[in-house]
Amino acid sequence: MITIDALPAFTDNYIWLLQDPEQQRCAVVDPGDAAPVEAWLDAHPQWQLSDILITHHHFDHVGGIEKLKQRTGARVLGPASEKIPGRDVSLKQGDSVEVLGHTLQVIEVPGHTLGHIAYYQAQQHWLFCGDTLFAGGCGRLFEGTPAQMHDSLSRLAALPEQTAVYCTHEYTLSNLRFALAAEPGNKELQQRMQQVTEWREAGEVSLPSSIGLELKTNPFLRCNELSVNEILQERDGRSQRTPVEAFAALRSWKDSF
Ligand code: ZN
Ligand code: FE
Repeated sequence: MITIDALPAFTDNYIWLLQDPEQQRCAVVDPGDAAPVEAWLDAHPQWQLSDILITHHHFDHVGGIEKLKQRTGARVLGPASEKIPGRDVSLKQGDSVEVLGHTLQVIEVPGHTLGHIAYYQAQQHWLFCGDTLFAGGCGRLFEGTPAQMHDSLSRLAALPEQTAVYCTHEYTLSNLRFALAAEPGNKELQQRMQQVTEWREAGEVSLPSSIGLELKTNPFLRCNELSVNEILQERDGRSQRTPVEAFAALRSWKDSF
């Protein structure tokens, strides 16, 4: 049985820590800073860090790799088409890797960066998606096009609804504020806003989300919804958008929100 905890890093990053208590082995996802992981390892001296999983090349996801690899000898897995420090295993679409006795499938999700990958565990329904799908939102388009990101998000949205979404940032509240502007009449979204506000006031992590919840409350997965398209039309008078055009309009609205 694997347990998954969030190690906070920087101001709003989470380093996901997968733990196998039986073997006393663990793995981390996107350690942008080594310090929180080292502190955990110091407090658990019997445990061994076996794997470091990387979704994309941004510093807040890769900054801690070298220190952790040096200390623990952990294997570093990351996207084949990006420059990842210390990478031992280069991954591309359709690859699968064994981590802590579980098979993770690699899904290429270009958009935030061009080589961005996500890791999916099909029996436990875990998704580690970095800065692609966020709770209530999605990553900025630093390298890819709206069409690429829309396609990437559509493929994640097609995973089973119970899939737990482990993204890298605690952006949920600000994402939901935007989501409510895009879909003020969405009852489930209003409820989610209330719930997440309570969690954050209590200092709790708002993650993981689930694909089912995102389908109901994340405007970036709802580009086909009439309500979203009506709001977009109110803003600029344009009607008859394709889903990719609606996505692009939402994304650029969010960028200046
Ligand atoms: Zn990033
Ligand atoms: Fe990031």
